[in-house]
Amino acid sequence: AEAETSTDKASGATWKAGQPVPYQFLAVGFGKVESITGRLEITDILRRMFQTIVETTPEDLLPAVYICVNKLGAPQEGLEIGVGEGILIKALSHTCGKSVNALKDEFRKVGDLGDLAASMKASQRTVFKPAPLTVRSVFKEFKAIAKSSGRSAMDEKRARIQKLLVASEGAETKYLARAFQGKLRIHIADKSILAALAESFPRPEETVERVGSDMSAASLLTHAYNQHPVWDTMLNYLLNNRVVDSGILDACKLTTGVPISPMLAKPTKGIDEVVEKFSDQPFTCEYKYDGERAQIHHLADGSIQIYSRNAENQSEKYPDVKLAMKDVLGPDYSNSEYILDAEVVAINPQTNHILPFQSLQTRARRDVSVAEVKVAVCVFAFDLLYFDKPLIHDPLKQRREKLRACFVEKEPVFTFAKGCDMNDPGEITDYLHESVKGGCEGLMVKQLLGPAATYEPANRSQNWLKVKKDYLEGLTDSLDLVPIAGYYGKGKRTGVFGAFLLACYNPESEQYETTCKIGTGFSEAQLTEFSEFYNEKDRIIGGRKSYYVFSGSTSLEPDVWFEESQVWEVRCADLTVSPAHTAAIGSVDPEKGISLRFPRFLRIRPDREPQNASSSEQIMEMYLAQP
Ligand code: ATP
Repeated sequence: AEAETSTDKASGATWKAGQPVPYQFLAVGFGKVESITGRLEITDILRRMFQTIVETTPEDLLPAVYICVNKLGAPQEGLEIGVGEGILIKALSHTCGKSVNALKDEFRKVGDLGDLAASMKASQRTVFKPAPLTVRSVFKEFKAIAKSSGRSAMDEKRARIQKLLVASEGAETKYLARAFQGKLRIHIADKSILAALAESFPRPEETVERVGSDMSAASLLTHAYNQHPVWDTMLNYLLNNRVVDSGILDACKLTTGVPISPMLAKPTKGIDEVVEKFSDQPFTCEYKYDGERAQIHHLADGSIQIYSRNAENQSEKYPDVKLAMKDVLGPDYSNSEYILDAEVVAINPQTNHILPFQSLQTRARRDVSVAEVKVAVCVFAFDLLYFDKPLIHDPLKQRREKLRACFVEKEPVFTFAKGCDMNDPGEITDYLHESVKGGCEGLMVKQLLGPAATYEPANRSQNWLKVKKDYLEGLTDSLDLVPIAGYYGKGKRTGVFGAFLLACYNPESEQYETTCKIGTGFSEAQLTEFSEFYNEKDRIIGGRKSYYVFSGSTSLEPDVWFEESQVWEVRCADLTVSPAHTAAIGSVDPEKGISLRFPRFLRIRPDREPQNASSSEQIMEMYLAQP
């Protein structure tokens, strides 16, 4: 970037400092990112893009970052761009004068609306050239498209999409069409953005000792983002200060109304392992309830907001919980702001007995009034993260004392998670059985005191261990895996997919690694359902994605590759090292991955995004934990 006029040679985009950054600049960058898989290279491309924007037109950094992650705001805002294929094809038909049917035929061949739109536009003669698209105008339009509602919403969306498509050229058309669908397919995750931002600003040496002053730029940004996952706040700090220093932890601090990334637990193979791991540390055993994680915020304005594990606002789904939370604060604390970590569980309100997870899933998600609630729930609170100030750096024992001192149980709608501090293996075993009898999944075992007992946002921590009832039955823990390819069925399964290739997610490399081919555990109806789901045009893709790691094994070569779309819970007999699969490759064997033996489908996990699937590291740990 030059000071006066910035011309990005590769993209051909030109703009003066202070002027809006052309969208072309990003689109060409996306093309480069799509063509490579190396994370370091991708980070470097992003870093160069961000630095150029900061040097020329810093106010465009925020819309640029949002366009890169294909989001319109923080998840709790619930603003999503995803428009249907139908509207897009219509808009494209108006843009390039081809019939909808002709475009549908083409689409069937090409398989990607972005590629189709780009080739259609390229073959068109342009009579007049509209003004170039800019990063900020595109982002503004994306928001307007997502927000349009009411009877004429479809027409409005189509008109806006068409306007953008008409003004677009080359790579712009391709990535616009994909962005409209909510799938940029270049796989830039938050982690890459954080790494690129960390390298875009200097990290000064800090002389005053304070929390974070000795951390690297990347760790600082990751910490800050995990406790306050909002790009606006982070970029505001970076652009005002032009350095990555520990001040970012104050700027991006835990705040009510902004869901924090939840702390996660590691599996164990049984009670002996727990006792061994926590041998010299006091710990507590809590019932592990089988419901839905809920982060409950009480804001300064008195409102209650409930967020899911993935930070989506669930307040509309749980009007009954919102009502119940109105009087759970002790008499001296009614104005206190708080953040509770809890599990919402379906119960039978007559008996107060816990119902299985499936009952909870039958609850409607939107526009529910308290009178319409069919499945009653109870909130089991297990942690207090904020009470008029952040508590995450305090040890669990202190947080728990505060929870019990400031809140009052209101059976059957609000209670504390049942727990007991114990360390005798026999007692813990009895407690595990008791929890299972009570309708729970097992126990959560947590460090109580010392630095290891703080709350670790977004971390799957050694300091929270899960002991599930499956272990009692000698079974391994289930895994959450992503179908990335399908095999056509034969015989009785002709006409549907008969088997699927499943992958785990490696958050380090941000790639999907295969771990088994699965064809067992499905009902006929499920196979039909999955075939319909994956056959919906844009879920079958032209070929393997660059970030799907495949061994090349001929016996595993699938018939079609899928867009990563769902997460399935799967159980297996055991785990084994296999040259045909790539999960955790290089960890237990330099060239072989880890695969599941006799995998069996259990259920879909609608609460999971593909990137929250079991990680390669978890699979490696499970493999190593086998007797
Ligand atoms: P993940 O660990 O990724 O959330 P998962 O959804 O498969 O994986 P589990 O392995 O079942 O979850 O265990 C962790 C989950 O257990 C938590 O996310 C939380 O929703 C739930 N849970 C139930 N009871 C407790 C408790 N007492 N303390 C913490 N978490 C609990």
